[in-house]
Amino acid sequence: MNSWGEVAAQVAPLEDVALDIALTGEMQRRHRALRGGHAGRINFYTPTFKAYSTSELTGCGKSAWPAVSITGGDCQLQCDHCKAKILEPMIPARTPDELWRVVNGEIERGARGMLLSGGSNRRNEVEYDAFYPTLRRIKQAFPAFRIALHTALVDRDIALRMEACGIDAAMMDVIGSQDTISQVYHLRRGVADFERSLACLTATTLKVVPHIVIGLHYGKLLGEWNALEIVRRHRPAALVLVVVMPFYAPALRPYATPDPHEVGRLLLDARGALPDIPLLLGCARPAGTVKAQIDAYAVMAGLNGIAHPADGMVELAARLGREVRVTPACCSIALGDEVLALDSTESGIAIDVQHVIERERSRRRPHAALSRIPVVVRA
Ligand code: SF4
Repeated sequence: MNSWGEVAAQVAPLEDVALDIALTGEMQRRHRALRGGHAGRINFYTPTFKAYSTSELTGCGKSAWPAVSITGGDCQLQCDHCKAKILEPMIPARTPDELWRVVNGEIERGARGMLLSGGSNRRNEVEYDAFYPTLRRIKQAFPAFRIALHTALVDRDIALRMEACGIDAAMMDVIGSQDTISQVYHLRRGVADFERSLACLTATTLKVVPHIVIGLHYGKLLGEWNALEIVRRHRPAALVLVVVMPFYAPALRPYATPDPHEVGRLLLDARGALPDIPLLLGCARPAGTVKAQIDAYAVMAGLNGIAHPADGMVELAARLGREVRVTPACCSIALGDEVLALDSTESGIAIDVQHVIERERSRRRPHAALSRIPVVVRA
């Protein structure tokens, strides 16, 4: 059997992409030990495959999962990697009445759910207090409308209030390094506050999906392994990993691009730490060769979902014998879909991988051995 490094080299878009052979070898060895329903299947979230979609598919999901901010573009924390820019494209709903109007309008336009977020106060809390009755009203009026809430830090009382208003999923960033909390977030709180928040959320019936932002410490990996340990202790519904995109970092504190091989190592360790919890690679990550490297490692490490995969990933997954599914979601807010559809029949459609690969091949120069790819096709 070929080594996975050799298999990757047979995928045309990966021909010139350097992978750490020792790491891919370890991924190959560890993959044999993976068990359970999540081990073999990988779901790609991408609009690229619409051409292969079936008649059951809905179209581009752009308006299906709008992101709404209860503070508009305002945030008191002004973290170094973000400076509140993440909030700018979100739909503002600064009052409960405005939220009600926004949600009604979005539902009329076809929204199936929303990601609700907002800027933080100086304690990294999003002040949802006044919005809970409206969230409850929304869920009572539109039970099928899914609400994923970016919680930020919470205590037990807040977690219970979030649960009581009927939201569907709770998401929070888990940070495992005190230096990152102090320096990047300018926050006078501890790693223990992040763990306590996750514990309070997972003690409810909410579907809790923490995120780890890889490279949050100015592009270095620092608290990520500790964050993994924290997540492992509290067993959430899924874990989303994203790689920092420091577009807005201040000139005085620039961000390096995270080392893709170190990211690959973390992905493998995440799989090892959480063998039976869905692991998703969210759409935020650097572009170009680094993205191809990270995505190839994600496929080999056994992650369950990748948003906007780099070119060649479907072929790589097929060559490694993974069952490939595709969700033709269109945008950065595919996260809502990824998270909320995880356990449902909507979590991707099976595609004719051979068909996809043939089409890819016709775009590129002829390449050997494509016909020998083991393909899993499901009706
Ligand atoms: S708290 Fe959130 S929105 Fe505010 S700057 Fe930090 S990452 Fe951005």
